[in-house]
Amino acid sequence: MMGVLLVLGFDLERGQYAYPMPGYYALSGSFGELRSNHFHSGLDIKTGGQSGAPVVAIEDGYVSRINVSPYGYGKAVYLRHADGKYSVYAHLSRFADTLQSLVYAQQRKTEQYTQEMYLRKHALVFKKGELLGYSGNSGSSLGPHLHFEIRDSAERILNPIPWFKKELPDNRPPIVQEVAFEPLGPTARIAGEHRFYSKWVEGGNGQYRLPGVLEVYGPVGLLYRAYDLLDNAGNHCGINTAHLYLDDSLIYAFDLQRFDFDETRYINLHLAYPFTLHPPKKSYQRAFVEQGNAFSGIRFHRRRGIIELTDGQVHDFCLELIDSHGNRTLLSGKLKRKAPPLVSVPFDYAGTSRLSYQLQRDLLRIDITNPKKIHAQGIYYETLTGTQHKLLPAYRKGNQLVFLLQLDSLHLPRRLFDASGNLQEQLPAWTLALPDRP
Ligand SMILES: [Zn+2]
Repeated sequence: MMGVLLVLGFDLERGQYAYPMPGYYALSGSFGELRSNHFHSGLDIKTGGQSGAPVVAIEDGYVSRINVSPYGYGKAVYLRHADGKYSVYAHLSRFADTLQSLVYAQQRKTEQYTQEMYLRKHALVFKKGELLGYSGNSGSSLGPHLHFEIRDSAERILNPIPWFKKELPDNRPPIVQEVAFEPLGPTARIAGEHRFYSKWVEGGNGQYRLPGVLEVYGPVGLLYRAYDLLDNAGNHCGINTAHLYLDDSLIYAFDLQRFDFDETRYINLHLAYPFTLHPPKKSYQRAFVEQGNAFSGIRFHRRRGIIELTDGQVHDFCLELIDSHGNRTLLSGKLKRKAPPLVSVPFDYAGTSRLSYQLQRDLLRIDITNPKKIHAQGIYYETLTGTQHKLLPAYRKGNQLVFLLQLDSLHLPRRLFDASGNLQEQLPAWTLALPDRP
């Protein structure tokens, strides 16, 4: 049923490179891994908690750049190779002698520790396998490791794993932890609610399921939490390929094999941090295209990958995750459209009515716990500009009446109240923190 649908053109003419750290075959981080505010741009090679392991040139090349800084990549070497690609070796403790004497000379001349040196073509040449320096913990590094990158001639970052499958074996399929659904608009419901929905999945060894049939309504998006394991370490690594199918037809394809530094800001649209009052906050990867996300890793989508069922049939979804070695994992489940019930408040609930709030994308969700009959007729809000508006309930769930208020600059509520005057509340300040997207 599933097939690799995408042909990656830039993959051609992959030469044989030497591995940059012979003897060190475990990764603590992989290419494209999701970090806060950026996609990780290379491999983090573990060095057993020690500095000083030899780092070698992966191919003949000349030094195009040397960096020395207390921040960022610390001590780093950039090589340019005959095929136009660059290799980058960062957080070094020490450079090889030829490089080190160049750096010392420049530091003396400028009387500065920090250096960014661009060298003339072919001025300083290294052979494949020749020592460049020693691994370390310089710059912004949280422990000794080698940060290693391969870039193309336009300095776009490439996934290095395809060159080093032998040194970095991986025989295990990706592991799925959770599947989630996000309501995308005021009409959307997931399991009868307008709320970010997440579930731990069942299964293992490449086969996972969301048990049962999940009821959805309106436009919803699928998200997931998953990671990959390579054979030589227990560190959670990223997964570069994800395909989402609805009833066997592809609706979304993500394939991260190359990216531009400029694109890394899109990670904030690719990831979702659902609003939770209780940390730790978990981040989920979207398997749909958030508005404004122009990331080139999104190779295909049908209607942004948004799921909106239009009949009463049970539909199958399947998320296929593929690691850099081609190991694949399937996460499947069933969805069914269920229209939300009409709002009814048959009686006054006992107890004091209470308001609570949650920001869901650009919607303010307002819950009244223990609602009274009058609340079914609507509640009122006063905006920052002083105008008053009525808001009708969206649905009822048990002893909660739920209202959804579309926030925009004209509808930033300051105060909520009901017709009886018994329920009145100033809104907490965070409800006015509009999400920075339309
Ligand atoms: Zn790194």
